[in-house]
Amino acid sequence: MIPFMDIKAQVNALRPEIDVAIARVLESSQFVLGEEVAAFEEEFAAYCSGRYGIGVNSGTSALHVALLAAGIGTGDEVITVPLTFVATVASIELTKARPVFVDVDPHSLTMDVHQLESVITPRTKAILPVHLHGQTADMDPILEVARRHNLVVIEDAAQAHGAEYKGRRVGSIGDMGCFSFYPGKNLGACGEGGMVVTNNTDYARTIRMLRDWGQERKYHHVLKGYNYRMDGFQGAILRVKLRKLEAWTEARRAHAAHYNKLLSGSNVVTPAEMPYARHVYHVYAIRMGERNQLQQALQAKAIQTGIHYPIPVHLLEAYTDLGYRPGSFPQAESATNEVLSLPMYPELTISAIEQVVESVGDFHRRVERPCF
Ligand SMILES: *Cc1c(COP(=O)(O)O)cnc(C)c1O
Repeated sequence: MIPFMDIKAQVNALRPEIDVAIARVLESSQFVLGEEVAAFEEEFAAYCSGRYGIGVNSGTSALHVALLAAGIGTGDEVITVPLTFVATVASIELTKARPVFVDVDPHSLTMDVHQLESVITPRTKAILPVHLHGQTADMDPILEVARRHNLVVIEDAAQAHGAEYKGRRVGSIGDMGCFSFYPGKNLGACGEGGMVVTNNTDYARTIRMLRDWGQERKYHHVLKGYNYRMDGFQGAILRVKLRKLEAWTEARRAHAAHYNKLLSGSNVVTPAEMPYARHVYHVYAIRMGERNQLQQALQAKAIQTGIHYPIPVHLLEAYTDLGYRPGSFPQAESATNEVLSLPMYPELTISAIEQVVESVGDFHRRVERPCF
C-alpha cells in the first residue's frame, strides 16, 4: 500500500525527541501557553522572517483573529478565492463580514490578480489570498492593489510553511500570515494548532489579547476575546518538528521533481511551479480529464490519492446564500473536476513514486485502447 501521507512514520522517526519534549511539559505543568509555546512562537516567526508569532489553537482561529485585528466585521467585504479549504471562507463569516470571491489563475491555481480590482467596492476591507497546495499567490500585484485601495492583506499560509515569493518567506509578505499545524500540514502538531505571524506591533498586541479572552493582563479584559490559546504540548512538539522542516521541504521538492520528470510527456498536466515561487508541495496535484476513473484505478492498486478540492466553496451547499452559481468561477470549477493529489510526504520513496507513475501510465494505456 502507498498511503497518501504518512504521519506515523514522521512521529516514529522523532519519537525520542518528542518524548523528551512531552516530559518537559509534564515536568513544568505549563499545559496552556507557557515557555514552550513562547519559544516556538519566536522560532517560527524567525523562520518566516517575521517579527511576531502568536500561537493559537488552529489555523481557523489564526484567520479569525487576524481578520478581527484588522478591524473587519459586520458589513465589510473580504476578497478571497473559491478554490480553497472551507476554513478560509468560514473564518471571514465568523467576523460577520461577507466573503467575495475572485477566480483562480488556471496555471498557479491561486488568486487571479487580474480580476481583483473588478470586485472591490467601498465595503472591501481586506484581501485574503490562499497559498494553495504550498505555492504562493502572486503577491506583488495583490499588495499593489491593496496599497492603492487601502486594504489589509492577510495570507492564508496554512498549506505553505516555508514557501517563498521572490525569495520572501510566506507569513511576512502581507500584513499578517496565518498558519495551521493540523497534523497533515507540512509542519503538523500532535493535535491542533495555528499561528499568526506579523511585523506589525499593534496587530500582534491585539491578537495576543484576542486569543486569551481579550485580556491585557489577568482579569483586565479590554477586548471581547476567545479561548484560542495554544496548548503547551503542541508548542514543545512543534519546536522539535520545526528543526526538521527545511529537510522535509527539500525532500518534498525532490519528490515533486521526480514525479515531474517521470510524468513529462504523458497526458497528465503536472503542477506548475511559478517563476516567482518556491513551492513546498503540501499537495502534488496533477490535472487530467478522467480524474475519478484514475483515482479508482489507483485505489485498486492500493495507491491512495486525494482531491483538493472536489467542490469549490461557492458551490458548497452551506454557502449557497452567497448567491454564486455554477459557472461563476469557471477556472476553479474545472480545477475541482480535474485535480488529483498523488502521494506526497517527506518519507515517500523513489520506488513508490515510480510505482505511482507506472500505474498512472497503465491507466492511460487502458483508456486509450479500451478493447485491449
Ligand atoms: C488547513 C487549512 C485551514 C484551517 O486550518 P485548521 O488548523 O484546520 O483550522 C485554513 N486554510 C487552509 C487553506 C487550510 O488548508
